[in-house]
Amino acid sequence: MVDENKIDPVILHQGLAKVRNRRWILWASILVYMPGLLIALDMQASGGTMAKLFAAWIALICVSVGLATIVSCPRCNNSYHTNGPTFLPVRKCVHCGLAVNADKTK
Ligand SMILES: [Zn+2]
Repeated sequence: MVDENKIDPVILHQGLAKVRNRRWILWASILVYMPGLLIALDMQASGGTMAKLFAAWIALICVSVGLATIVSCPRCNNSYHTNGPTFLPVRKCVHCGLAVNADKTK
């Protein structure tokens, strides 16, 4: 178990703020689907328009997942959410277990 106190708290805070930011982008991208779908239905969008919107949403999700994947852990410097081919958007580092809000609990 690595001692969290050994890391510069400023670096820890900045790193985790970035992780939280990327997580927020990811969830926001996923959640925008429902209101987006309802708005499109309300506007009586055609099948073609719906397909384009869906493709745009998939692209948005891919970018968000990409951003969340490359963000690195401030403690162990590994990718925070990714262990090999597995992407796990959990609330702690998949390598060292550093919590996403570890800088707030002190
Ligand atoms: Zn870590």
